[in-house]
Amino acid sequence: SIVITGATGQLGRLVISSLLRLDVQLPDLVAAGRNEDKLGALRELDLTTVRVDYGDPATLDEAFAGADTVLLISSSEVGVRVSQHRNAVDAAVRAGVSRLVYTSALGADRGKLLLADEHLATEQAIADSGLPYTILRNGWYTENFEPALRHAETTGVVLASAGDGRVASATREDYAEAIAAVLAQDGHAGQTYELSGDVAWSFDELAAALTEVLDREVTYRRLMPEQHLAELLRTGVDESTARFLVALDANIEDGALDLVTGDLSRLLGRHTTPLVDALRAMR
Ligand code: NDP
Repeated sequence: SIVITGATGQLGRLVISSLLRLDVQLPDLVAAGRNEDKLGALRELDLTTVRVDYGDPATLDEAFAGADTVLLISSSEVGVRVSQHRNAVDAAVRAGVSRLVYTSALGADRGKLLLADEHLATEQAIADSGLPYTILRNGWYTENFEPALRHAETTGVVLASAGDGRVASATREDYAEAIAAVLAQDGHAGQTYELSGDVAWSFDELAAALTEVLDREVTYRRLMPEQHLAELLRTGVDESTARFLVALDANIEDGALDLVTGDLSRLLGRHTTPLVDALRAMR
């Protein structure tokens, strides 16, 4: 069977629907997640579910028993992910799975993205495990810019401190389809793919795309980091999130999310979803 962790999350659910479209059969899938209500909703779709907590190795042993392939979707609990992911890798070794697929971060080894360290440590743990693996380094989701769309809708501005930085984003659906393709195919062992959108867009281009989608003039207001932080706090964003967003824009300016390799569209066999189309779908 294929065990999908994070199946209760947004990406995991899309991976499962993509696998079903690829004719992977329900009995061959196990949806693993932590939230009981969300697991219950998956059972209503006739999926086999199992509860896992990355912090609790016994739950991982139970989930991975008899698994052929494990998809480890990275935890959303930033800061404790290395030990959580190590637990999952160790459990996959104990279960003797024949393949471990992990969702890492774009350019994780380039030292430019503040979130990359935990992913890189996880990649190392996977390499050290001796298990056959595939690393899928996911770039930014275009959906992360939904708050920017909402803000632009009412104000006509995109506020960011990313300078001339570019983002090669793709939709969650794009990533999910590619992950499903890797899970359903042979031939990806030992590979590390850099998954990102076909186009690395600038924030001026984001504003132009929003102008098209929202039927109103939208411009990019380039802020200095401290101005950006003050704006976010003024609009009610909590301080740790605000600081994270400002640091991320500095990473973007530094080119942390602009890598375009074509790996994603090659796995998809089509272009990634254009920015304008993704924004239109969010409206
Ligand atoms: P979601 O927040 O929708 O889903 C996160 C998933 O992780 C949920 O299924 C959640 O389970 C599970 N999870 C979190 N902590 C634990 C834990 N301790 N034990 C077991 N499961 C846990 O995120 P997405 O689906 O949108 O994205 C998937 C991952 O990609 C994120 O977890 C994060 O690592 C990363 N990410 C990537 C972004 C990008 O732009 N590329 C942006 C944001 C995140 P449950 O709900 O059942 O508690």
